[in-house]
Amino acid sequence: MSDEGAQQGDPLGPLLFCLSSLKLARSMVSEFNCWYLDDGSLGGNVEDLLLDLDIVRRVGPTFGLHLNEDKTEIVTNDASVVKSIRSVTPNVRHVLSGDAMLLGASIGDDSTVDNALNQKLHEFQCLASRLTSLSAHDALFLLKNCFSMPKLLYTLRCSPCYRSTILLEYDVTIKKTLQTILNINLNDMVWGQATLPVSNGGLGIRLATDLALPAFLSSLAGSVDLSLMLLPSRLHSVGGTQDTFYISAGIEWQSRCGMAVPDAASIGAQKTWDSPQVLKKFDEVFAAAQTQSGRARIIAAAAPHSGDFLNVLPCSAVGTRLDDTSLRIAVALRLGAVICSPHTCVCGEQVDTSGTHGLACRKSAGRHMRHNAVNDLIKRALASAEIPSLLEPNSLSRDDGKRPDGLTVMPWSNGRCLIWDFTCPDTLAASHINRAVTGPGLVADDAEQRKTLKYRSLSPHYLFTPIAVETLGAIGQEALTFFMDLGRRIATATDEPRSLQFLLQRLSVTIQRGNAACVLGTVQSSNGWDELF
Ligand SMILES: [Zn+2]
Repeated sequence: MSDEGAQQGDPLGPLLFCLSSLKLARSMVSEFNCWYLDDGSLGGNVEDLLLDLDIVRRVGPTFGLHLNEDKTEIVTNDASVVKSIRSVTPNVRHVLSGDAMLLGASIGDDSTVDNALNQKLHEFQCLASRLTSLSAHDALFLLKNCFSMPKLLYTLRCSPCYRSTILLEYDVTIKKTLQTILNINLNDMVWGQATLPVSNGGLGIRLATDLALPAFLSSLAGSVDLSLMLLPSRLHSVGGTQDTFYISAGIEWQSRCGMAVPDAASIGAQKTWDSPQVLKKFDEVFAAAQTQSGRARIIAAAAPHSGDFLNVLPCSAVGTRLDDTSLRIAVALRLGAVICSPHTCVCGEQVDTSGTHGLACRKSAGRHMRHNAVNDLIKRALASAEIPSLLEPNSLSRDDGKRPDGLTVMPWSNGRCLIWDFTCPDTLAASHINRAVTGPGLVADDAEQRKTLKYRSLSPHYLFTPIAVETLGAIGQEALTFFMDLGRRIATATDEPRSLQFLLQRLSVTIQRGNAACVLGTVQSSNGWDELF
């Protein structure tokens, strides 16, 4: 319909028209009508359609809506039907049933689905080629949150796309783009982990072939009640969860996951169908890890908040954009990809292609940079919560004469000021590896216990909290409790409910930036053209 009412500043026009039309159509003529604002679909036999069209033409103008014949389509394979409809609307466009689209979703046969997916693929290939002109962090953010799955999900939810081979091409394009953006060689093992959600140790770059089934099944199951309301009663026995597409998709899902279809109460949620697939893939990735360090890395990557740097909005002004090299190293450490050529560290030890020696190397300059950056972050976060603090307070020292990292000037709780001390144990260090494979965050928890022991001689007038965050991002229990409390206080002071989320993301970015400096610190510095640049 052309929408003159809305153009004249009457936004209620189309809605009133729809309700009115629906009521008229339902009570007077055909059994198969549905409207969304000023877009309508009429169904039924030719006589009903002609009566409906007559109503639309007569009633529409009273609401400022007129039938736009140039945008009207008749979907049928019967030429006599087309002839009848054209006798009253000569300009109507004829669409064969196999090519039908409704509100952007293909409702025809497999070739229509393929056509819709091909169009999506070409759009994505065009966008992906332009992403390489951006900085790596910006490009990764856009690929993950805008261009890869988000642009395809509507199509996946509307049609049984899981049967189309074009999804494989879509996934190949995602892989090539990611490889170019990150400058990382994504072999099968690395790629398998990368395509897991962030909370399961991946990068959150999901595959079209993985999401097609959960998206379609949940969409169909979630709209059963509505579709049964729209369908005429004679079609109820073949609609909703009795739909042949739903049944065959359910069989395919069972064969992939090796389990029964979920309970009816939760089948409308995509997560219900997706989670078993994700867990199966995670188990496969974990089983493929050949070494203790590989297993420890995957466990740490799946720890809560260890991948927060992947969810951050890159912005230089607030310090959340990682440079290309730091992002490459952060992602490669998470996925166990090749970071560098084997070389001799400045400390004399050999560095292998994983580059992880730098994380634990005593001579690596990045350790101090990371330590100072995290303490500065905590100090500034406390300031945001209106609690001033000091770094390395002179007035306090423990048994061995060393000072804690920070002290709040104002009381933290129960009239006592807070002392904190930060440490960043390396998840993959030889001394930690056997502990790291037993569970996420345990290396950090152990480090916190050691810190607490060291500072037990401090005055009881102070509260002490150890803050341990592993190199691979897992946060110790005491640190997490502290950050959650701090995030809540910042939210109260600033009225920003996402304060904790932002705080943990900044922490994650700071740790990864420090890791990159540690890895780069293993290479002997050589003179550049500083005099020129
Ligand atoms: Zn070294």
